[in-house]
Amino acid sequence: AKEAGKAQFARYSAELQATAQRRLALHNDLALALEREEFELHYQPICRIDGDRHRIIAVEALLRWRRDGRLESPLQFIPALEESGQIIAVGDWVLRRACRQLRRWQLAGLGELRCSVNLSSRQLLQPDFAGRVAAILAESELAPASLVLEITESLLMQDSAETLACLRELAVLGVRLALDDFGTGYSSLGYLKRFPLQILKVDRSFIGGIPDDPELRVIARAIIGLGHSLGLEVVAEGVERPGHLDFLHDEDCRYAQGYWFSRPRPATALEPLLRGECGF
Ligand code: C2E
Ligand code: CA
Ligand code: CA
Ligand code: CA
Repeated sequence: AKEAGKAQFARYSAELQATAQRRLALHNDLALALEREEFELHYQPICRIDGDRHRIIAVEALLRWRRDGRLESPLQFIPALEESGQIIAVGDWVLRRACRQLRRWQLAGLGELRCSVNLSSRQLLQPDFAGRVAAILAESELAPASLVLEITESLLMQDSAETLACLRELAVLGVRLALDDFGTGYSSLGYLKRFPLQILKVDRSFIGGIPDDPELRVIARAIIGLGHSLGLEVVAEGVERPGHLDFLHDEDCRYAQGYWFSRPRPATALEPLLRGECGF
């Protein structure tokens, strides 16, 4: 038994070491990824749903990392970027890139299209973040109202005076703010009142089980109703099936995003959809 224990321990420490090495390699690779131009943005449509008419009103920019020919999911590397502080430089790149792309689409005749960009708390806490956003908007000749910044509850949870001040500056600038993944964090309904939000995104964990799960239905209905009664635009995430759409129609939820419409795609691959060439 002692020998077996030893062998198990050796295996265990070898695993630990391998994990530590993978982490180190990840951090090293990420440190070079920006200059090697390995990041790209994919875009997923956000639709307005009116009866059977579905119209793309916005796109969400989602970060991808092309590492050794494979596309890595942001869930795999964003935490590492946040840990190392590189999320500031990468977040800046994302914002600039998304704004430029949106401007191109607007000039090509999609004047009303908006773009959503995800923010990390580290970005918001850098000095004069709102000033940086204003500069990027000016440089890309975009109206501030074309840009939506998505923030999460965990970011608001820190509830610092700096966060609130920054969000107010962004709101004054005319940028729109969305609360992402609503309902998954340590939700405090007070956030909805305290912060200058215009958009509430209902997390896909509430949509996936609809219409079969009666409890989810009740919760999703309550969240949508709450958003509407606070005057927010409510976007349902993770819309994958016609049953989801039927539910959203019944609840008067006007905005939806999910694989039913499109997976995130590179800009050029999204263009036929933006031109309305593929009906949903
Ligand atoms: P998120 O902001 O909640 O983005 C939506 C995620 O849900 C995306 O995953 C998207 O591909 C996925 N999704 C969309 N529709 C469906 C659907 O119908 N079914 C299912 N199962 N999934 C769907 P993705 O692209 O892997 O991004 C994961 C997360 O990484 C994002 O979640 C966001 O929190 C973060 N992220 C992505 N890009 C950035 C970025 O530029 N900056 C920061 N700070 N975070 C980012
Ligand atoms: Ca988001
Ligand atoms: Ca989300
Ligand atoms: Ca999410």
